[in-house]
Amino acid sequence: MIEKRDFYINGAWVAPASANDFNVIDPATEEVCAVISIGDQADTDAAVAAARAAFPAWAATPLEERVALVKKLRDIYVARRADMAEAMRMEMGAPIDLAMSGQWGSGTWHLDGFLEALEGFEFEYAMGSDRMRKEPIGVCAMITPWNWPMNQVFLKAIPALLVGCTMVLKPSEIAPLSSIVFTEMMDEAGFPAGVFNMVNGDGVGVGSQLSAHPDVDMVSFTGSTRAGIAISKAAADSLKRVSLELGGKGANLIFADADEKAVKRGVIHCMQNSGQSCNAPTRMMVESARYAEAVEQAKATAEATATGPTTESGRHIGPVVSELQFNKIQGLIETGIKEGATLVAGGLGRPEGVNKGYYVRPTVFADVTPDMTIYREEIFGPVLAITPFENEDQAVQMANDTVYGLTNYVQTQDDEKRLRVARQLRSGMVETNGVSRVNGSPFGGYGQSGNGREGGEWGLDEFCEIKSISGVPMS
Ligand code: NAD
Repeated sequence: MIEKRDFYINGAWVAPASANDFNVIDPATEEVCAVISIGDQADTDAAVAAARAAFPAWAATPLEERVALVKKLRDIYVARRADMAEAMRMEMGAPIDLAMSGQWGSGTWHLDGFLEALEGFEFEYAMGSDRMRKEPIGVCAMITPWNWPMNQVFLKAIPALLVGCTMVLKPSEIAPLSSIVFTEMMDEAGFPAGVFNMVNGDGVGVGSQLSAHPDVDMVSFTGSTRAGIAISKAAADSLKRVSLELGGKGANLIFADADEKAVKRGVIHCMQNSGQSCNAPTRMMVESARYAEAVEQAKATAEATATGPTTESGRHIGPVVSELQFNKIQGLIETGIKEGATLVAGGLGRPEGVNKGYYVRPTVFADVTPDMTIYREEIFGPVLAITPFENEDQAVQMANDTVYGLTNYVQTQDDEKRLRVARQLRSGMVETNGVSRVNGSPFGGYGQSGNGREGGEWGLDEFCEIKSISGVPMS
């Protein structure tokens, strides 16, 4: 049993102000795998005070020194890859191969993207006789979710460190182990005391305290739209910057002239990470000429998607993160059936032969209509909804018929149509024909998917204030 009750404040591991144990559950076994502490106001205040005190010196530290420390962190992250992967496997149920590759690799990917963006990033530049300066915003609270733990931590902590902010990280209480390992790495890298602090806690406690804290200049949050709204309200009285990366209900528009693999690719993407990705293409929309064939292909792909133990190597998916999420997903599958969608693969209950762990059957619904709950709500499980469309205008209208706007997907071999459709989609990102976004491309959404843009130069800008100074021209 792992016991990690301490927090990291002002460069040292410290006991919580008052004892409040919390069990971390391994979703593959349903057993307690670790004990952490849930912090309170005194812990939050101590961490914020440490970050506040460290800010002036860190902001004034030469950029090369900040970069050198971030590179050192990278080396340690690479050396401790197996520890990090094991933490994520245990806390959120990523199969070990995914934990060692995509889950772990998202960290180095983003870090490298930020270092590259930094090369062209101008902290000071001229505009006529004015001088523009980008300055670190100050003390940042980082509240992260459980689904891509290191992805989110790197997207927030690395740019904040590089531009000169100090910070308090509050990882998800459901999946805190990877952030504890990350904090050990920060300690080993030797960042000055107070630059990075980590307090475990829940949303109503440390999460709300950080959001409302008068000495926090910015909250960077990734997670549910519900929590994003709560954080925005809590932050309103102090008018701090709130950067939000929230949910999604991505449409995957498959036109009749899409490539052969479009449907299979879409199903695999939807099921990846057990469906727990905000940018998952969960609404597959297929032009009527290809519809029947697409439903058959989706059924076959879902049925070929195996679930399996997180400790075993292979291409299978793992459980979902918690009993709460398992029950929520089961409820939505039930609602899909009740509201009249056609269940073509998967369904209620655990996969055959599985009687332990929060495993969900890879599920596909066809004939899903816009009035159905499974068309509208983010399910956050391996559940795909398929809907037919008749023409381009209807496809665009249906894709945009959502409160979300994170990532939409377009599949057609007609270049002009692909761009025309992409331009009309109301989302922060559009991915076409299975081509991945490049490193440093901004990640973020429209509408209730949030207001932030993470990664690359946009991700650096997120943690900066802009100042104009007149009358001191640059030579
Ligand atoms: P959540 O949003 O409640 O939790 C994410 C983080 O926010 C955690 O660190 C949590 O402690 C914190 N938090 C929760 N309420 C808070 C509050 N009022 N103030 C400050 N911090 C708060 O996510 P969840 O409950 O674990 O998952 C629920 C749903 O959220 C999922 O089903 C999914 O739809 C969505 N979700 C989306 C993402 C994403 O990346 N977009 C990630 C996780 C969950």
